[in-house]
Order: sequence, then structure tokens, then C-alpha cells
Amino acid sequence: MTLSYYCKSCAVKNFFKTKATNRFELQQELGADEINRRCDYCGNIEKRHINRLTAQPNKTLMILSVVLAILLTTTIFMFGFIAALTFTFPIWLFFDAQKRASLFNKTMIRRR
Ligand SMILES: [Zn+2]
Repeated sequence: MTLSYYCKSCAVKNFFKTKATNRFELQQELGADEINRRCDYCGNIEKRHINRLTAQPNKTLMILSVVLAILLTTTIFMFGFIAALTFTFPIWLFFDAQKRASLFNKTMIRRR
């Protein structure tokens, strides 16, 4: 999952990657309720509560699904066979990436 937050001092959006698929997993991964990161742009170090981080849909997966959809459509046109299922798969991938990000954003951890 790619997570993002806005830097308090320069308002630039920062991104970072995690294996966690929800905030509970992220909390376990960090062993804390907050992240302590340096801004990629201004270098300002700040603490951010996990609940303030926003998940982004996996871009690589989304681009891949679009490319797959185009490739499959061309294949279908070239060979002339109906493959509705193969065609819906990339679209499913696209929505799945969005769904996982929104699921992450919906679940909050309990604030201590
Ligand atoms: Zn900054």
C-alpha cells in the first residue's frame, strides 16, 4: 500500500510504501501509533498519527490493468474471439486497487 500525508511546513504531499493493508497492520509494523518521517521536499521531520495517513490506490497495478485491457481488446479484435471474462479481469484489478485503498482509509485505530 502506498500511503500519503501532507507536510505541515511546506504542504507538499509525501508518499511512502508499506506492506500493511490496513491501519491495524501498519500499527503493528511500526510498533507505534505514529510515524516519524522526514519530508522528501523540505526535510522537516514530523510525527503523524496513523489515522492521518491516506492510502493511495496502487498506481502500477492501475496502469498495468489499463495496458492489459488495451492489449486484450486488440487481441480480441485480431483473433475475433469473445473473451468477456479476460476483458473484465483488468477492470476488476483496477477497481480492486481502489477498493483496497478506500478500505484502508475507512478503518481507524483507536487513539490512546
Ligand atoms: Zn515539507
